[in-house]
Amino acid sequence: MKYYSTNRQSPEVDFREATIKGQAPDKGLYFPTQIPQFEKSFLQDIPLLSKAEIAFRVIKPYVGDTINEEALHRICTETVDFDFPLVKITDSIYSLELFHGPTLAFKDAGARFMSRCLGYFSQNSDKEVTVLVATSGDTGSAVANGFLGVKGVKVVILYPSGKVSAIQEKQLTTLGQNITALEVNGTFDDCQQMVKQAFSDEELNQKLFLTSANSINVARWLPQQFYYLFALQQWHEAQPPVICVPSGNFGNICAGLLAHLSGMPAAHFVAACNRNNVFTRFLQSGNFEPHSAVATLSNAMDVGVPSNFVRLIEMFGTNVGEIRETISSYSISDEETIAAIQHVYKNYGYLCDPHGAVGFASLEKYLEEHPAQKGIFLETAHPCKFVDVVENALNIRIDLPESVKGVVKREKQSIRMDAGYENLKDFLWS
Ligand SMILES: *Cc1c(COP(=O)(O)O)cnc(C)c1O
Repeated sequence: MKYYSTNRQSPEVDFREATIKGQAPDKGLYFPTQIPQFEKSFLQDIPLLSKAEIAFRVIKPYVGDTINEEALHRICTETVDFDFPLVKITDSIYSLELFHGPTLAFKDAGARFMSRCLGYFSQNSDKEVTVLVATSGDTGSAVANGFLGVKGVKVVILYPSGKVSAIQEKQLTTLGQNITALEVNGTFDDCQQMVKQAFSDEELNQKLFLTSANSINVARWLPQQFYYLFALQQWHEAQPPVICVPSGNFGNICAGLLAHLSGMPAAHFVAACNRNNVFTRFLQSGNFEPHSAVATLSNAMDVGVPSNFVRLIEMFGTNVGEIRETISSYSISDEETIAAIQHVYKNYGYLCDPHGAVGFASLEKYLEEHPAQKGIFLETAHPCKFVDVVENALNIRIDLPESVKGVVKREKQSIRMDAGYENLKDFLWS
């Protein structure tokens, strides 16, 4: 399998190079030259297959021969080594819980897969790989956890001092081993600027094998297809499901759409958005008009310009009429998000986090217009990650899962640093 750049100004690369580079040199996103088709027997056998086997069969054509089969099996087994339960909420609505991984959000699977691929690719290199990430919270902890203990890979995370939540800070700073947290006296933008400069510093890149763990990396994007097949594995209704995905950068929903184009049955897709609704408006008007992000309760979806929109266009073309045949979208306000958290808890005894609540509310709207159908929304984060919102909405106390309690007790270990690239360079050089 080869990958081309969506900007079409860079050469095609294989999976190994696409993973190491992250973004194409022309700043486009890598996209596979062909969309593989699932075999009928694979789709029929899904209820009988293990999660690791499903993952292996889905990803194998994308990886090609850049990773040997035995190693790819091991990587798949480690990637999906937790539960992805499909929980029935109402007669027609199910929740696919994607928050049972180590950092309690769906980004864990992609981060685990990518980290192990990079570890594999660095085996034959005499240099260790250094993964540099700037984080405002969640991405950093998923990446750090994903890379924890992976041989041949060192992770350096920059985060703005005093600007991440207490739990997030513990998740970033208590891992040890191959993970180093740099606590920067500055803002998230300062951190990002320092990382960007490191990537463009030729002298540094001669000395170190530097890479990013960006969310647009194919090795983080493609494994998200697994969720949709795990959902199918647990789906026992007569008709294929409507699938509703809480969306920000649209990586997750684009992975679902890719699996669908490979032959995975789905009745329809719904992109659930908060007030950051460029895509909802695009489906209405046919015009893509990016705006700057506004802050909402479902803050992992506060994205003004969804970076995977270009991948959606690769899959469906620019004809908005055709896109509407497969995808609908709703924009849910903070008030509606709270109302959905309350409604789902009071009527069905189920706890949604704000992102899942945007998903539930959107799916409910779609099903009102299509009452014969049934659907699944992706619950992308554990409610305890947004404990303030959920506790305020419901007037209850939420217990932290044991894994989080353990992290909160551990001691923070970070290296303080002033903002400014020279400080980062000195650190990386030594
Ligand atoms: C990242 C994230 C999303 C949005 O996913 P995209 O792939 O960026 O669309 C939704 N919910 C949670 C909890 C997230 O962390």
